[in-house]
Amino acid sequence: MPDYDLAIIGAGIHGVAVARAAAQRGHRVVVLEQYPAAAMGTSSRSSKLIHGGLRYLESGQLRLVRECLRERARLLRRYPDLVRLTPFHIPIYQTTRRGPLTIAAGLSLYALLGGKGFARVPKSEWPALDGLHRDGLRAVFRYWDAQTDDRLLTERIAQEARGQGAAFHFNTRLTHGSWRQGQWRLACSRQAGTLACTARCLVNASGPWANLTLAKLDPPADGLAMQGVQGTHIVVPGTPARGVYYLEAPADGRAVFIMPWQQQTLIGTTETPYRGDPGAAVALESEITYLLATRNHYFSPPLTREAVTQVMCGLRLLPAGDSTPFNRRRDTLLHRDGKLPALLTIYGGKLTSHQVTAERVLKQLDL
Ligand SMILES: Cc1cc2nc3c(=O)[nH]c(=O)nc-3n(C[C@H](O)[C@H](O)[C@H](O)COP(=O)(O)OP(=O)(O)OC[C@H]3O[C@@H](n4cnc5c(N)ncnc54)[C@H](O)[C@@H]3O)c2cc1C
Repeated sequence: MPDYDLAIIGAGIHGVAVARAAAQRGHRVVVLEQYPAAAMGTSSRSSKLIHGGLRYLESGQLRLVRECLRERARLLRRYPDLVRLTPFHIPIYQTTRRGPLTIAAGLSLYALLGGKGFARVPKSEWPALDGLHRDGLRAVFRYWDAQTDDRLLTERIAQEARGQGAAFHFNTRLTHGSWRQGQWRLACSRQAGTLACTARCLVNASGPWANLTLAKLDPPADGLAMQGVQGTHIVVPGTPARGVYYLEAPADGRAVFIMPWQQQTLIGTTETPYRGDPGAAVALESEITYLLATRNHYFSPPLTREAVTQVMCGLRLLPAGDSTPFNRRRDTLLHRDGKLPALLTIYGGKLTSHQVTAERVLKQLDL
């Protein structure tokens, strides 16, 4: 009999969520993670939003938005200390590409799909909006979404998984896996020595490393054609007192958030194609300049490069394609290789929808 019913590669939000769900059903679960703790990959470098993704409405991803809003409601109930509703503000200027009617239509649809409603902020309140420039300002909309601490949320779920009996091995990197006689034989390198174990099923929850993990398997497993796209955030001093600002970057019309974060301000994100070792992705100076320019376009006094106290860079996998990353689909992709029924790879996805993703993974693996 194999050592485990399920082995999971990666202790990001997806790996820990699958581990918790499987352990709750009484399965013997092990999580193998190359870094010393959970959430050291993408799951601590996100925008830290638990949201439906208002902007996905523009590309017609209604199902994704509805699902994420449903998950947002679940998480608000389950983790009131970690997931909090926050007011979001969308200012519309004479020069903004999306006018008040477009934004109001989008917010109405968002509310219909499960959002919390929205309102126009009266002109009398504009001076209180954290110094937002008022020249050419036509309207400001306020709606509601949620913020979290992605690292703490992932760690909490890992703790719950452990409470249900899941085993975690950190500093443990999968180096080789082979499918023999109805079970996976996994070999890992550790800081001191190696670790070997067997499992009935394997979930590849290694985020941006997903295809590199597949390349370690024997027989070779087919993966999906994906593209790495890095997203940078910067942190600057001061906290926006009124909540989050959802801005249109003047350079290219992309959405950029300015958010209160640990008594400072988090600004992000970017979408820059990336090739190479997922663990080596770093923020580019051009990304930092872009984020500062967007912030300075809307708020005074202007901030310089010296004001940046922290820089974070996360990597997402998006389906490979010719369109700009901003317009690519953001659904979580669950991929199975017909030759290897006891293997499932999770590509992409949202922090917000980790729970429903975990449920789907177990259903597909019949666990
Ligand atoms: C810039 C950015 C902003 C985002 N903002 C949001 C947001 O605001 N809200 C939202 O809902 N979603 C957001 N997302 C999406 C969300 O953050 C990701 O989908 C999610 O964190 C991915 O989690 P994961 O567990 O799949 O991958 P990861 O968190 O990357 O975890 C994969 C783990 O696998 C481990 N691993 C890899 N290879 C091996 C190996 N061989 N052996 C052992 N371990 C291995 C890695 O060390 C890593 O810990 C954002 C994504 C990005 C990039």
